[in-house]
Amino acid sequence: MSHGLLAIAVLLLCIIISQNIYAAENREVRVAFFPMDGYHIINDDGDYDGMDVEYLKNLSEYANWDIRYVKCNSWEEALQMLSEKQVDLVGSAQYSKEREELYAYADLASGYTFGVIATNPEKDIAYEDFAKMKSYTFGMVKNYVRRNEFLEYLANNNIQNPVIVEYDTTADLQTALSSGEVDAMVHTFTEVREGQRLIGRFAPRPFYYITYKGNDDVLQELNQGIVDLKMNKPELENELMQEFYYNRFDKSVLLSTVEKQYIADKGKFVVGYLDDYYPFSYEEDGVYSGLSRELIESGLGVTGVDIEYKKMASNQEANAAVASGEIDFFVYSTDNSDVLQEYNLKRVCEYAEVPLVLVMRNNQKVGEINSIATVSFLKDAVMNNVASHKENVISFETQQECIDVVTEGLADAVVCNGYIAEHLMRTDMKYSNLQIKKVLSENYKIAIAVNREDEHLANILNKTISTIDYRMINEFMLRENSYPLMSVTNFIENNSLVIVGALLILIILIVTVVGHMLMDSKKIQRLMYKDTKMDIWNMNYLIYYAEHKLLPERKQRYVVVNVNLSQFRHYNVIYGWDAGEELLGMLGQLLGQAVDEKLEICAREQGDRFVLLLRYQESDKLIQRLKTLKEEVEERIWKDTENHMTLRMGVYFIPENTTNMKEAISNSSQALEFMTDKTDIQLYDEAIQALIKERHEREKLLESVDIQKDFVAFYQPKVDIRTGKIVGGEALVRFLDPSDGGKIKAPGFFVPYYEQTGRITDIDFFVFEESCKLLRKRLDAGLPVVKISCNFSRMHFIKEGFVELFEAILDKHNISKDLIELEITETLVVEELQHNMVKRNIDILREHGIHLSIDDFGAGYSSLGIFEQIPASVVKLDRSFFLNQEDRTRQVKIMRGIVNLTQELDAQIVCEGVETENDVALMHEIGAYVAQGYFYSRPVPENEFESMLDAS
Ligand code: C2E
Ligand code: CA
Ligand code: CA
Repeated sequence: MSHGLLAIAVLLLCIIISQNIYAAENREVRVAFFPMDGYHIINDDGDYDGMDVEYLKNLSEYANWDIRYVKCNSWEEALQMLSEKQVDLVGSAQYSKEREELYAYADLASGYTFGVIATNPEKDIAYEDFAKMKSYTFGMVKNYVRRNEFLEYLANNNIQNPVIVEYDTTADLQTALSSGEVDAMVHTFTEVREGQRLIGRFAPRPFYYITYKGNDDVLQELNQGIVDLKMNKPELENELMQEFYYNRFDKSVLLSTVEKQYIADKGKFVVGYLDDYYPFSYEEDGVYSGLSRELIESGLGVTGVDIEYKKMASNQEANAAVASGEIDFFVYSTDNSDVLQEYNLKRVCEYAEVPLVLVMRNNQKVGEINSIATVSFLKDAVMNNVASHKENVISFETQQECIDVVTEGLADAVVCNGYIAEHLMRTDMKYSNLQIKKVLSENYKIAIAVNREDEHLANILNKTISTIDYRMINEFMLRENSYPLMSVTNFIENNSLVIVGALLILIILIVTVVGHMLMDSKKIQRLMYKDTKMDIWNMNYLIYYAEHKLLPERKQRYVVVNVNLSQFRHYNVIYGWDAGEELLGMLGQLLGQAVDEKLEICAREQGDRFVLLLRYQESDKLIQRLKTLKEEVEERIWKDTENHMTLRMGVYFIPENTTNMKEAISNSSQALEFMTDKTDIQLYDEAIQALIKERHEREKLLESVDIQKDFVAFYQPKVDIRTGKIVGGEALVRFLDPSDGGKIKAPGFFVPYYEQTGRITDIDFFVFEESCKLLRKRLDAGLPVVKISCNFSRMHFIKEGFVELFEAILDKHNISKDLIELEITETLVVEELQHNMVKRNIDILREHGIHLSIDDFGAGYSSLGIFEQIPASVVKLDRSFFLNQEDRTRQVKIMRGIVNLTQELDAQIVCEGVETENDVALMHEIGAYVAQGYFYSRPVPENEFESMLDAS
């Protein structure tokens, strides 16, 4: 091992020295200077100014650059210049796939922007006043990058389909806003002009510097420079944002007059914090730091109020301080409701979630826990969710105390804040005997606590403070994480010439420590990137990982495989939830073992869906590899559960220049969904694309139909096989496809889609009403009628009011309920009878004496037991009984059993799918006499059915 370290140390040294040699001369870097409020400004002296200029000034110190600005008229022109290599850098670039194909991006962002909704100053609307926004017309530039997120933001606040007017350029949009042509402008934060008011914000996203491809030296220095900047001046991005943007707005924009007055009266807020709650709230060199502080400042900063921070010794002290008015609010509240009650506190803006972890000493096993330490506010949760009764749960005041007792061997395990555990284990050698054994599915939220009476303050905080994105925590953690390594190299860099000789041994030592720390840093990613239920990556990580693998000029080839288990849902129904989870755990493990951990990845999407990102050289071999994996998994499942289940795979070979992982995942998932391949390994190929397109077009068509016009009811007679007489009929819906000259389409074409959208219920009632009309017409004419059965989708039964509607239609046409039968499928009975609403609806039907018929009996996995649960007057034997006549004697036995039982329960049997003479003979044999099938008649249009009735 020490050989390896030595080599690394020497290498490190060489790099440092070589960097120092180059450092002698400054590079001239040409930067495009395009007009953009705040970002690029020419000040009164004619000098370049603005956020970009300030940022680059700082960056240049680390990158050893001389910046030369090259003026241009627009952002587009800046990009043009970059393409022609007339400049080296363009700032403020958001990430997009298309753009990444053209330019090289810096690894790390240089700031965040977000989308905003802005109005003219005189508009009478408060921040996030969605009720008012409902009637607004929004202006937006064409192809605005955050368009979907904007729609989502509004949709989350109950505004569907907002009115949007599009403009070609930002200038046009600005004109439209000031002239009142639109009520509000939707754009990127940095495009908002002085004086305009913000009424909403969404979709925070990083922006980057870009350079042209091949400008490798500049890119490398840029990347290193940004890392140095983030490390040495972590506040810079925020400060510049404040200076060039926030400060120029009407700071009280968000607040009502009363709230503004409240702030003015107060003058400043005193905020309580706790130390040691990394990364949210902690002290660094005696100064209050962390994400909570950043959040408070960027939020309340907008109001211009002064903030003073006061350290609190404990949760209790902080609570008491809020209650007594000593502090205005407390930033890190985790307390339970009893405590809040006691101090008369209220939690506002829960701004982050903290994962909980189980930490133990390295050499201890999870199965051998006798005592668990935890903080008092988690004690109940631990007793209820984590401990299995035999353990002793001891509580302490702070997270660190808990961790300490485990290090010292006074308790076996600790359940605590995952971030703090990570941080301590990484920064303090004292904790090197500890290990995170498990990330628990429980977590807790941290929030700001205020005095319950302080309504205004609660509102102000709510309006100004948003939540912390997990990506932000992540970046923060990773940034802090690289600190030990970076500070070491920096140190050496600055002193290398003096101490090179004596350094070698020291470096070996340092590298050992750093190696240790880097290993630990991996665990942070685990914390945020693991599935909550099993020890496997989640999709966040898969995407994060893929972003680092799918580089634009990569040499390796990758494929995404979307995997599921075909009969898993049934397995879950039959054997229960726990067994299902266990099976999935095993599946996850097998898939995880099948990937090469260093180069590939397996993640769980949800349920029985897993996604693999694999490397391959030849597609044939890859397919062979998948086949082998499939066989192994299926065999193992058979061995463990005695169930045959098939592993199905959708496969998408990622094209060489594609970097978009999300799209790749979606393609592989569509291959899975549209599977036509009999081997259960489906490539995303042209056939699949055609199917997707076809489905898409079909859905468009089905969206636009007019039920009354485009659908008709057909009828299929039910015949008594002894007499040949029609004794009933089933109404079956047909679609007269208007896009295909009114051609008749069977339900397979549209029912599944309408079941998804819920519209099937309208169609069912349409068919039912058609049947009632037919009956009424014949009754009025004094012609013979038969009982007609109508299909009702399961959708009806999970809603209130089905029976009322059903009876209203019977009444409207004055039809006796004895002339109608209601068909519900067997699966509804089996799967959803535990659903209270379904049960209630069926009970009401029974009480009202409406005839029920169980459809498709025997198609699924029902048992005879369901007859006892549901009062059916008819049982329809599924077609599959007639299809499968290999072992006829056995078949006859089973069917006769069903017939006997139904007779005992006074129900009638109808055989479906009677196609041949042979089928009829079988019916005689089992003693069932009502047939519905092609042997007698296909479903026919109304007039034909009437003729049959007349003749019968
Ligand atoms: P289902 O309720 O089991 O209807 C019986 C299906 O079997 C009908 O197909 C019918 O044409 C077909 N069939 C009848 N005899 C034979 C035979 O001898 N051989 C064969 N191979 N098939 C036979 P259809 O009309 O295509 O309907 C398919 C399914 O669509 C229906 O199955 C039902 O689940 C659904 N459906 C039809 N109309 C409606 C409706 O108004 N509402 C709802 N919710 N579903 C409907
Ligand atoms: Ca039916
Ligand atoms: Ca059926």
